[in-house]
Amino acid sequence: MTKDDLKNCGLCGGSVARIESDLPVTIGRRRVSVRGTFATCNQCGESFLAPGEMDAVLRSASDQIRDEEGLLGPHAIKAIRESLGLSQVAFERLLGVGPKTVVRWERGTVFQNGATDTLLRVVQFVPEAASFLKALRLEPATGAPARDVQTAARESTFARYTYRAFMPAAYAGMSESPATTAPASTHTFRMPREARTVKGEKVA
Ligand SMILES: [Zn+2]
Repeated sequence: MTKDDLKNCGLCGGSVARIESDLPVTIGRRRVSVRGTFATCNQCGESFLAPGEMDAVLRSASDQIRDEEGLLGPHAIKAIRESLGLSQVAFERLLGVGPKTVVRWERGTVFQNGATDTLLRVVQFVPEAASFLKALRLEPATGAPARDVQTAARESTFARYTYRAFMPAAYAGMSESPATTAPASTHTFRMPREARTVKGEKVA
């Protein structure tokens, strides 16, 4: 027994003791059971968590759901963040998730949804995507307004990659210094006529 344990059930007044049981936990639309030794009422069967036990229960429930759904785990997410050289706060801004979300992912008490898991894998394996999101969400420094998508694309390696791969003629015309290229309002991704060839053949 710890000092946090109840002696009597707050629901029915029955006596409470620590017994091994399965605690049902609901996270979002998922419901799993966490096996553990919990303060449980011997009359109505209700289990009570002491304040310090909540994190461990959430971690265990999140582990089960992550395993079942094939989602990245806390260590993998931390490794991706560190490979990008970002703080937890900067990583939240990059991904567009709420405050403290990355802390909770890395602590294991919360897991990401499927779409965010896909985004994490994209920034892990596609450097151009990470560069694009850094330009869009993290630069210029804090306090300045967010950039529009076209400016971010132009100033990231994403733009250079795209131009090189698909629009060689347009890329040849781009300034080596992105800061001196035309403003976003006059810039489009329209493919110039002379670039519309694939392996020597005209494309429409
Ligand atoms: Zn009870």
